[in-house]
Amino acid sequence: MNTRAISSAALAATLTIGALVTAPDAHGVTGPVVAGNGWKLQAPRITHLDTKPWVIAFHDTASRTKLTPYLRNTAAELTAATGLTFTVTTKIVPVTVGKCPPTHTISYRYMSKPNPAVPNQSFTGTCSLAGAAYSAYSFINSDYWAAGRRFHEYQRMNVIWHESAHGVGLSHPATCPRNAAGLQPLMCADTYKDLRTRRYSSFERTAFRQLVLNRAYYPLGS
Ligand SMILES: [Zn+2]
Repeated sequence: MNTRAISSAALAATLTIGALVTAPDAHGVTGPVVAGNGWKLQAPRITHLDTKPWVIAFHDTASRTKLTPYLRNTAAELTAATGLTFTVTTKIVPVTVGKCPPTHTISYRYMSKPNPAVPNQSFTGTCSLAGAAYSAYSFINSDYWAAGRRFHEYQRMNVIWHESAHGVGLSHPATCPRNAAGLQPLMCADTYKDLRTRRYSSFERTAFRQLVLNRAYYPLGS
């Protein structure tokens, strides 16, 4: 049986951390909401998404060829869940672990064993600026497509969605409950295999909405 570990590389890729503007919301709560039932943000580094559109790029042409069909789907879901625009481009943006890609770019690299110490891992490094997601790089492990590994297509899709959610600021939740549809959070590292509907669950959609709502705690224009 394959064992798979997915984790976010919480690297020191942060650019700068801005001061929070704290103000009470309609419920008298001060500050952004950064976790809930089955979801969690990468706070305090990332608490919100600003209003700028995002682009999806690729480390090289091989990554672009392989991952574009998947990421079109991911981008459509992120667009619907956040109200922002996520566009799959043909841009080549080489990625290096620990180095932030250009603003509002998530660049993907498709390669075997991107973390040799954990051969089954895929990982994502996320950059932030003033509390907002800024850019990210995502290494998708090509071993999941290897003959003989017997990964299902929905598992490969869920890995890509999981890593993409890290790219905009989601973390692994503290608990992994089931929703009304019987699904556990896609961001529970070892339970993505249970999500067979090929899309984000209600837990991630709640987190994406909160990333947008938390914008209210930051200066206008950020
Ligand atoms: Zn993860």
